[in-house]
Amino acid sequence: MSRISATRSPPGAGVTGLTGDDVAPRFVTGQDGDVDFAFVSGNPALDLAGTVGSRRDEPIDALAAPADLERWVAECAELPERVTADFATFEFALSLREALYRLALDRVLDRPFDPGCLQIVNGAAAAPLPSIKLSDAGLHMSGDLRAVLAHIARSGIAVLGDPHACLKECGRNDCTRIYLDRSRGARRTWCGMDECGNRVKAAAYRARRRAKA
Ligand SMILES: [Zn+2]
Repeated sequence: MSRISATRSPPGAGVTGLTGDDVAPRFVTGQDGDVDFAFVSGNPALDLAGTVGSRRDEPIDALAAPADLERWVAECAELPERVTADFATFEFALSLREALYRLALDRVLDRPFDPGCLQIVNGAAAAPLPSIKLSDAGLHMSGDLRAVLAHIARSGIAVLGDPHACLKECGRNDCTRIYLDRSRGARRTWCGMDECGNRVKAAAYRARRRAKA
């Protein structure tokens, strides 16, 4: 059911950490502080991978600096409210993100997992985890960024290793976000209605009107 072709150039090429070369990311970065993060993938590992949009054309990276990652963690409902990102851990988070994206894409395309990316994700998952506490306010998680990344890696492993998990790429061509479709009959087409579904529908409406005129 994938809309993507395996023959296209590998996403994430040029990203530090995937190849072992110190290649500068070629991503266009978002403007400081004003990028809206979307948490619509159904899994924090997929949401992290989704911080790069438009991966096949001109990738747009919402995590341009450590502060962006701190904000992303704070905004993600199931992660701690506050972490500090030093540059080395930020770089590690980006390589984990690209590895998670590549493995999710491998799942969508029904091909074997990339061994190097498996190593990155499995390695991240082996680190100590954040601590969790239950109270009347619900679950409270605390831990440093390394621990948060371990939690994200484990969430990624849980979804990527689940043979019943239905992973899809968003139906809007420029989006390229991979999400977990939990809908009845797995009939979801977009990563999110606000993010993509309404945009595609509005564009189709405009095209119909143009055709009539
Ligand atoms: Zn989308």
